Amino acid sequence: MSLKGKTALITGSTSGIGLGIASAFAKEGINLVINGFGDADKIEKEREKLESLGVKVIYDGADMTKPEEITAMVKSAEEEFGNIDILVNNAGIQHVSPIEDFPEEKWNTIVAINMSSSFHTTKAAITGMRKAGWGRVINMCSAHGNVASPYKSAYVAAKHGVLGFTKTIALEVAQDNITCNAICPGYVFTPLVENQIADTAKARGITEDEVINDVLLKAQWTKKFVTVEQVAGIALFLCSDTAENITGTDITVDGGWTAA
Ligand code: NAD
Repeated sequence: MSLKGKTALITGSTSGIGLGIASAFAKEGINLVINGFGDADKIEKEREKLESLGVKVIYDGADMTKPEEITAMVKSAEEEFGNIDILVNNAGIQHVSPIEDFPEEKWNTIVAINMSSSFHTTKAAITGMRKAGWGRVINMCSAHGNVASPYKSAYVAAKHGVLGFTKTIALEVAQDNITCNAICPGYVFTPLVENQIADTAKARGITEDEVINDVLLKAQWTKKFVTVEQVAGIALFLCSDTAENITGTDITVDGGWTAA
């Protein structure tokens, strides 16, 4: 079945992986609701660029820490497009710090954006998917949904939670032609990774080059960063007919990290 004319809402799609998925989806003719923070002019340019691929794209700046903004975003997307067919819960942030110094406010924000926002978007969008008789929920997880690294307590806890949520929703909607899966990338070179290099260097007392080679890519046996395009390709695959019976699971793309 062609995906042309379907609508996807992708949280956190003004940058990195989310923007990459938006671009891959637009190339398949999927209309988009993009979301995330950033400079308004830059976001508008990205929106126009996506629209130039021949689809309709609206931007919604809902804050993923605010449930009422999330619900309003889903409602206005449904008013605009009739239905959300594909929901990609992608927004996420990171904070790197030993537990003794980990700020409570960072813990709460990471849990809200990286985990609880998926609950709110899914809760709001699932009725429309059920009515339409087709849907795809894709939760951007991480290798850190399966294994831990020190100094990332909130992120690792939230991503483990995302996998539990993914399995639960998959069972609840299994007979409605809706699948719910997670993607677990290793390190993808996006602003999220770039921005944690200095803090990781400080937390571990090493140089930034050492962070890249001895920490980030240490566990990635291919010694390559995963690319945004590779993650976007997996998201598209999960929307295909071939993936109809793939549900309640995660697809790992981590260069061998969690195999070791
Ligand atoms: P990124 O920093 O490039 O993008 C994050 C996006 O989330 C941005 O659009 C940002 O504006 C948005 N965002 C942040 N806070 C928000 C909020 N409160 N409300 C709405 N939007 C908000 O990061 P990325 O690397 O592209 O990460 C995207 C997802 O992929 C995250 O869930 C991340 O945990 C996951 N991931 C990334 C990597 C990696 O190595 N980059 C690896 C595994 C998983």
